[in-house]
Amino acid sequence: MTFTYSSLRTRVVFGPGAARTRLVDEVDRLEATRVLVVAGEAEMPLARELAAPLGERVVGWFDDVRQHVPVACAEAARAMARETRADLVLSVGGGSTTGTAKAVALTDSLPVLAVPTTYAGSEMTNVWGLTEAGRKTTGVADVVAPRTVVYDPELTVGLPADLSAASGMNAMAHCVEAVWGPGANPVTDLMALEGVAALRRGLPGVLADGHDVDARSDVLYGAWLSGTAFAAAGSGLHHKTCHVLGGAFDLPHAAMHAVVLPHVLAFQVPALGERAARLGRALGDEADPVGALVRLDDAIGIPAGLRDVGLAEADLDEAVRLVAEKVADGAIPNPRPIGHADVDALVRAAWAGRPATTADENAGAGA
Ligand code: NAD
Repeated sequence: MTFTYSSLRTRVVFGPGAARTRLVDEVDRLEATRVLVVAGEAEMPLARELAAPLGERVVGWFDDVRQHVPVACAEAARAMARETRADLVLSVGGGSTTGTAKAVALTDSLPVLAVPTTYAGSEMTNVWGLTEAGRKTTGVADVVAPRTVVYDPELTVGLPADLSAASGMNAMAHCVEAVWGPGANPVTDLMALEGVAALRRGLPGVLADGHDVDARSDVLYGAWLSGTAFAAAGSGLHHKTCHVLGGAFDLPHAAMHAVVLPHVLAFQVPALGERAARLGRALGDEADPVGALVRLDDAIGIPAGLRDVGLAEADLDEAVRLVAEKVADGAIPNPRPIGHADVDALVRAAWAGRPATTADENAGAGA
């Protein structure tokens, strides 16, 4: 056994009510005296409530948060951080909000304290992303990884059912990809498979009753593990494919990941060996991990295909071309060689709907 495992230095505080009872202590711990609060307009009332005990230590409120962090928004947040001489960025919100805080950390080296309200997992990674003129750039820098994350499942109670399902399956995609990511190792496996099991356990309960804090806790715990495992294992076929599709066709991030995942898993399964059975066990069906994933998608109302999340049929040829350019013919390390014809089959199948079972999908992909 030979591997390298790097962990980030993020401190995690987890528990129902933690954002209301532990936040001030955590700000103290970071010795921050000038806090810039970042939250989207919709989450700003929550952020104001959570930050109220900090009193005059809050020196700015930044609410121009947008998906994929346009450079103009990042620049505005950085300018506010400098004008207010902030020494900590407190982000309250989903992946877009965390991403905005990371953009400030990237250039100004400010520590970030993240309070996530979705299952995006960005708070546990050192990956940043910015968009300019429709082009998304991502990079890796430890300085953007939040110093502290306060996970409070009660904050996710208001996340609507469709967003909860999509965001939860976005976390699932981090876990599943961590099983074969370029840096996968026995430690990331542990976290990824525990994350898969927690998400599978919690998501149906969240969809049955959005106020079920135990189910919300399971899913948020899974989201934490998903980000941690993904940060160490790195991006592979699934995320590279989604990165291309999301960037080129402006598809909704979480739902697109949820839709594409069973297709990528179906393609990988023949090359995963024992890892497929372990994934299957975590998903509740050792013999058929793809079938288990599809049944979970069905149960929680994930859209069937990319055509249901905004990819036009007329764009399919271009989608195949762009994805193939990024992932086919040895462009990325992958457990199973992937050629142009495989990409063509995968993207078209993901557009049309779900794979039925592992066996069906392998036949369809020409395996
Ligand atoms: P998001 O942050 O854009 O939020 C989606 C919507 O949910 C918004 O309208 C927001 O107002 C709303 N919302 C958030 N929390 C809510 C709550 N508790 N109740 C009700 N509504 C709520 O979406 P996301 O899926 O969390 O994040 C997607 C972004 O994160 C993408 O830009 C993606 O690239 C990025 N991301 C980055 C990483 C990374 O490692 N860098 C990882 C995952 C995602």
